[in-house]
Amino acid sequence: MKDLLKKLQNDFPAITFVASTKFYWSPQDQAVYYDKSKNNDTATWALIHELCHGILGHKTYKTDFELLKLEVSAWDSAKELANNYKITIDEDHIQDCLDTYRDWLHARSKCPTCGEHGIQGTDSKYECINCHTVWKVSSERFCRPYRRLGDWK
Ligand SMILES: [Zn+2]
Ligand SMILES: [Zn+2]
Repeated sequence: MKDLLKKLQNDFPAITFVASTKFYWSPQDQAVYYDKSKNNDTATWALIHELCHGILGHKTYKTDFELLKLEVSAWDSAKELANNYKITIDEDHIQDCLDTYRDWLHARSKCPTCGEHGIQGTDSKYECINCHTVWKVSSERFCRPYRRLGDWK
């Protein structure tokens, strides 16, 4: 991963790469944080994925569904970018990552009254299309409550 890191730093001089304990993109810092203890395929793919959030300029999203769409687009560009470095990102890995988001979205959008799926109005409110129950979901970032607002996985 060290070689790739060097190449990426060289090819994307506007973005800072910071050794850390997790992988994420920080729009405030214009920095890709990476887990320096990891050095396998998954780590390489994560590094490219986070970089793509940066290249695509991902900052905020309004709804859970939009977050999922941005994750899909970050993986799509990651696949293309990886090609330039002769790296192939495993499609199953991508789908596994996206499934985590899909499961989360599914759980949040399920009506507590009737179990149908709701539509998200504002950031934290859903309304059931079937029984019109309105419920609030946590506005915390996807499964990373300890992270600062605005960081991307
Ligand atoms: Zn309902
Ligand atoms: Zn992501």
